[in-house]
Amino acid sequence: MTRKDSFFDRLPDNLFIGPVFGPEEAEAVKALVEAGTITQLSTDTVEEFEVAFAAYIGVKEAVAVSSGTAAVHTALIAAGVEAGDEVIVPAFTFIGTVGPVLHQHAVPVFADIDPTTLCLAAEDVERKITDKTKAVLPVDLFGHPADLDAITAVAEKHGVTVVDDACQSHGAEYKGRRLGGLAPLTSFSFQESKNMTTGEGGMVTTNDPELAQVCRSVRHQGEQTWGLIARVGYNYRMTALQAAIGIEQLKKLDDFNTRRRAIAGCYTEALVSLGLQLPTEASYAKSVCHVYSFLLPKALAPRRDEILNALQQQGVPVSIAYPKPLYASPVFDGFAVQACPVTEDIASRVLTLPTAHSLSIETAGRIAEMTRSVLERYLT
Ligand SMILES: *Cc1c(COP(=O)(O)O)cnc(C)c1O
Repeated sequence: MTRKDSFFDRLPDNLFIGPVFGPEEAEAVKALVEAGTITQLSTDTVEEFEVAFAAYIGVKEAVAVSSGTAAVHTALIAAGVEAGDEVIVPAFTFIGTVGPVLHQHAVPVFADIDPTTLCLAAEDVERKITDKTKAVLPVDLFGHPADLDAITAVAEKHGVTVVDDACQSHGAEYKGRRLGGLAPLTSFSFQESKNMTTGEGGMVTTNDPELAQVCRSVRHQGEQTWGLIARVGYNYRMTALQAAIGIEQLKKLDDFNTRRRAIAGCYTEALVSLGLQLPTEASYAKSVCHVYSFLLPKALAPRRDEILNALQQQGVPVSIAYPKPLYASPVFDGFAVQACPVTEDIASRVLTLPTAHSLSIETAGRIAEMTRSVLERYLT
């Protein structure tokens, strides 16, 4: 890929992903290294991070784990998902949502998404529930909450547990409340590209102390008490080094999210007149703009790759989240899949701009202008 725009040439690639650290993170890590206490088992930094995260979310319990994928897996185990159980998942998401369903030898059942929010559609969940369904796994996609009340209503009617995947939505709000306490179990990721980071890391939140206890056991080899193993467990522990970084990142999360929303606003301002479907917020939602995924008009779907290339030629850091329904991946070949037409359509014409809080508004403005000038050639 040859870039022609010198402005974009001068920027480090990692700028478009994130993370932003200050001296606070470095000092917190240094103190632990100097003390020689760097694991969950040797100091209480992980617990401090859990308490701070739970307080921020407004939930009783938070259980830190080693990744967002581990958080989803741990939450599914706590929800009682076992081999052969069906779990309803959106067809439009990252594999980190659905991999853990496979880890449990459970059966992912793909449901379609809402064409506006791009999150799991409650009506299609209702259609796909069977007497084998154990859990519904909505994703708060791209920083925007799924319609959790509508999904919960369907789930409760059928006695099914909701496990919310908020790995892209730390601090996002549903009807004025932060995601994390609105489903029985919610998972978060602190991977480097997320709205706050510990490098790798994750968290499960819940208001149910018994579910939290199961999560703590799953994280630590399935232990009940020392030497007594209650269940199949994992080593999903977060290190104290990660937690120390997380404590500092959490203090900055609202500022990071404000920047992300401002960057999204900047893109919308530049693109609004072009007749694209741009990200919006549902009336119930406050988005934290994890990325900016917008849709080309249907007529341009066949030219999406050409447009992607044209943007990349100019140095625009554009990508595709996500290029295909997840069920199109070979790993799902053995499963019966009912096609999800909304996902098929949207995956064929989506393009994604970065909203990383590491980007200045000036850089976002340049990305916005360059994107507009390229897209204008196709749209007018
Ligand atoms: C990032 C992400 C995950 C997995 O998180 P990791 O920390 O990378 O394991 C799961 N689900 C969604 C929607 C994500 O964006």
